[in-house]
Parts: sequence; structure tokens; C-alpha cells
Amino acid sequence: MPYPPYFQEKHDVFRNMVRHFVKTEIAPYVDEWEEKGEFPLSILRRMGDLGLLGVHYPRDVGGQGGDYFMAVVLAEELARSGAGGFPMAVAVQTDMATPPIARFGSPQQIERYFKPALAGTKLACLGITEPNHGSDVASIETRAQLQAGEWIVRGSKVFITNGPRADFMTLVARTRDVPGYQGLSLFLLDLDRPGVHLMKRIEKVGMRSSDTALFYFDDVRIPYDALLGEEGRGFSQIMWELQGERLIAAAGALGSAQYAWEMARDYALQRRIYDQSLSRLQTISHLVAEMATEIEAVRQLTYEAAWHFSQGEVLTGDIAMAKLATAQTANWVIDRTMQIMGGHGYIRDWPIERMWRDIRLNRIGGGTDEIMKEIIATTMGIKTSR
Ligand SMILES: Cc1cc2nc3c(=O)[nH]c(=O)nc-3n(C[C@H](O)[C@H](O)[C@H](O)COP(=O)(O)OP(=O)(O)OC[C@H]3O[C@@H](n4cnc5c(N)ncnc54)[C@H](O)[C@@H]3O)c2cc1C
Repeated sequence: MPYPPYFQEKHDVFRNMVRHFVKTEIAPYVDEWEEKGEFPLSILRRMGDLGLLGVHYPRDVGGQGGDYFMAVVLAEELARSGAGGFPMAVAVQTDMATPPIARFGSPQQIERYFKPALAGTKLACLGITEPNHGSDVASIETRAQLQAGEWIVRGSKVFITNGPRADFMTLVARTRDVPGYQGLSLFLLDLDRPGVHLMKRIEKVGMRSSDTALFYFDDVRIPYDALLGEEGRGFSQIMWELQGERLIAAAGALGSAQYAWEMARDYALQRRIYDQSLSRLQTISHLVAEMATEIEAVRQLTYEAAWHFSQGEVLTGDIAMAKLATAQTANWVIDRTMQIMGGHGYIRDWPIERMWRDIRLNRIGGGTDEIMKEIIATTMGIKTSR
């Protein structure tokens, strides 16, 4: 129990279980999934069977009844697969597309979407970003208009993780003719409805085992009760969602940094150079020490922000700091690990080249570094005008 009060013995037991699962059921297959550009849906069902998709949700909605640090452990340990794509798909399933259903959903929506998502039998995706609006969530243009008791959805969503094979989307759309954040609402949209067009599977630098979609919604008719939560409250609902998403992203980046650091340490100890271990070079041993220090600092930041979140306190500035710091540190640590490994770090025999490509997304997705700084500056009262 190295980090009280966050972790207890049950978390260590869970960590060991997930580490074994990742080592035996994910890591051996990620090369194949990366090559194919998607993971098999059977692995999601397997995670559902093992109870790994709902670790921190109450039992009465299909979860395991664990606390929030179970989700932190899961995100950290999935990073040990050495590929970010599948962990990102899982994070979308467990901590991006589904939390708004758990919080704002009706009993029918819990049965129809949330429980199957936690069981791994329905694949979920989250539709916020549009071709013209990413960081600027308040300007979302996709419309949902009420006509004769049905919502008619028209617009586009881009960069949608899990999108190509997802069963449903937690969608943010504009329901009122007012500019800005006031007119947005959330919906649960079945993706097999007429008018849903998968325009493209998007190719990416990294995260290749996660599939990504561009959608066009051409007057998609959805029932009135597809509305999730209160009409017109979508902006605050999705801002709440983003806090949990950023914490899980922070935990995943922390796990990636830790895993890369272990690789750097082991490589430095084992590699022989000038007839001695590479770690005997002061530049290298000091770099490995510095990497460990940076990881430890962001670990504390992340656990502290997660602790407040687990207690019901949503500290947006602290969460933004954790997201920003872990993304930057993980990028730096993984880049340094590649440097320590020399040419071996750049070739495909080692997972570090993939981690190097994958981790870059953490500085962009779920809110860019710049947006995190904007939030931090705002919460500190030092925001400058745009
Ligand atoms: C692989 C991948 C998976 C993704 N998965 C999903 C998903 O499942 N669902 C989903 O909805 N979205 C998803 N996204 C979208 C992601 O969240 C957005 O890309 C991200 O929020 C940035 O939006 P943007 O790409 O439109 O960039 P923009 O918002 O256009 O930003 C462009 C640049 O301007 C900067 N900038 C913007 N506003 C400010 C500001 N106020 N101050 C200073 N600088 C600013 C940004 O930091 C950035 O450097 C995914 C993206 C990728 C690449």
C-alpha cells in the first residue's frame, strides 16, 4: 500500500489481477490488432465477463461496486499492454460515453444502453467533436429538432473513437436556436438508424488498434425518449463528463510513463557499452532518476485530483493540471526512453516506438494542453483575454 489513503489492499489485489490479464490476454495480441486497425469485440465481452468494464459503478446498474481508485488502477495497468489504442477504446466505453448515462439516464436507458455497455455486449462511443468545432464545445452545430414527438438529428461528428463499430453514441447536439452553451442537449443515438452515415474510418499516427470514425447524420429520426437528462443542460452535463474522462486519461498516461520508465531502467542496467553497463554513465543514470522524479510528481497530482473526484468534489483546475502534467510528462519520459535505447528504441521490435506515437494524442484528445492551461488560468483567476 504505497499510496494511502488512496489505495488499500483490495486495490493491490485488483492491480495484480489486471496486470496478469493484460500480460496474458492483451499484450500478446496487440501487434495483430494494431496491424488490423481494430481489436476484436470478443475481448471487450471478455472484460465485461470479468467485471472489468464497470469497476467503479454501483452493482444495481451492472457495475462491480468498487471505488474510483479501481478505475485508476485499471487505466494504469491497461497501459502495460504497450499500446494505447485498446486502453483508449476501453476508456471510451467505461469513462467517456457511459458516465452521463449512469448519472442522467432514465431506468430504461440504464437497461438498454448502460448495462449492455458494462457487459461488453454493446459498444459505445461519444460524439462531441465536429469538423468545425473541437475545443470550442459551446459552438457545436449538429442539430436535434423536435418534430411531431421525434428528434430529427442533422450534422457531423469527427474523430469518434469506437465509432465504426459502435452500437450507440452519446451525442451532444443543439436543441435550441440560441448561440453558445445554453442550447445543447445530450442524446443516446442508435447507430443503425436510417440516415446515420459512416463516412470514413480515419487513419492515424498512432492508437491504431482503436478505430476512429467520421459520421454524417442526415435527418436521423430518434424517439423523444432518446434525450439523455434535461433538455438544454447538455453543456454542463458534458463538461462534467469531461472531468472524469481527463482523470482517466491522466491515469493512463501515468501508467504509460511508469511502464516506459521501467523499460528505460532495465535497458540501462542490461545494455553493455564501453565494457560496462549503460547505467554506469552518469548522464544516463541521472536521466533515469529525473524521469522517476517527474513521474512521482505527476502521480501525486493525479491521485490527489482523483481522490477529490471520488469524494464528489469536482476540482476542474486540479483535474486540468493532472491531465496536462501527465500528458507532458509521459510524452517526455517515453521520448527519453527511446533516446536511452538508441536505435533499438526506434525499431518495431520494441513497444517503445508505438508508445511514442500513441502518447502524443494525450496532449490533444479530451482537451488539448492549451485548453488545460486555459482552465487552470481561469480557476486561478489569472486568465488573460483570448
Ligand atoms: C485519435 C483521436 C480520438 C478522438 N476521440 C474522440 C471521441 O471519441 N469523441 C470526440 O468527441 N472527440 C474525439 N477526439 C477529438 C479531440 O477531443 C479533439 O481533437 C480535441 O478536443 C481538439 O479539438 P480540435 O481537433 O478540433 O482542435 P481545435 O479545437 O481546432 O484546436 C486547434 C489548436 O488551437 C488550440 N486552441 C483551441 N482553442 C484554444 C484556446 N481557447 N486557447 C489557446 N489555444 C486554443 C488547440 O489547443 C490546438 O492547438 C479525438 C481526437 C483524436 C485525434
